[in-house]
Amino acid sequence: MKISNSELLRYSKQIILKKVGISGQKKISSAKVLVVGIGGLGCPLVLYLSNTGLGNIGLVDNDKVDLSNLNRQIIFNRKDVGKLKVIQAKKFINNINKKIKVKIYKNKLTEKNIRKISNNYDIICDCSDNFGTRYILNDYSLKSKKILISAAISKFDAQIFNFNFKKNIPCYRCFMPEVPDLDNKCDAEGILPTVAGIAGTLQANEVVKSIIDKKNELVGKMIVFNSINLNFRKIKLTKNYTCIKDCKQK
Ligand SMILES: [Zn+2]
Repeated sequence: MKISNSELLRYSKQIILKKVGISGQKKISSAKVLVVGIGGLGCPLVLYLSNTGLGNIGLVDNDKVDLSNLNRQIIFNRKDVGKLKVIQAKKFINNINKKIKVKIYKNKLTEKNIRKISNNYDIICDCSDNFGTRYILNDYSLKSKKILISAAISKFDAQIFNFNFKKNIPCYRCFMPEVPDLDNKCDAEGILPTVAGIAGTLQANEVVKSIIDKKNELVGKMIVFNSINLNFRKIKLTKNYTCIKDCKQK
């Protein structure tokens, strides 16, 4: 993969970083990342990935843009209301850079379609707002040894995970074996827009690091932060030896 002169200039401030360099930029432009859920997390995530020069992005969402989304779903505006998120997001991304290959999936992700949708992607980002999708993504990524960058947000709190299943690490089910009684969806609980922005940006940060560097500080751990008291903690996850078969077998 060749980097053109205009790309060299466009990405110069990241290419001059020793840990990125030309070789890192080439990796970024050939990487394939799937984003599941184009909401409060998915929007800042695709904004950063597109501007960083990521080559291939897949978008999965079956929803339309709603007026109540706009406070935090920062790639959309009033004109997008009522239109399919994946179509508007693709337009937004190609407006940043028309060279980015964007594939859209207008379906809700299920156990049945996940293999077909996710097969071609090296890294999967869980930007969903429900436990069902989170478990489906965990189980598939674990089984197929992919990298899953996951985040969950509610009110003023966020959790960010980097599950690199090429390694023998605890999975999401080790941390959360069952759906908690209070399914904390941001629809019902509310969410501060900046919390979604910080968490989605941290996901983008983990994606870029996973692409350019084999070693990653967050693998096997999680970040927990609260935007009111500004506690920002990194916590080691522990393996649950009664977890599902694919997790135990590792
Ligand atoms: Zn597990």
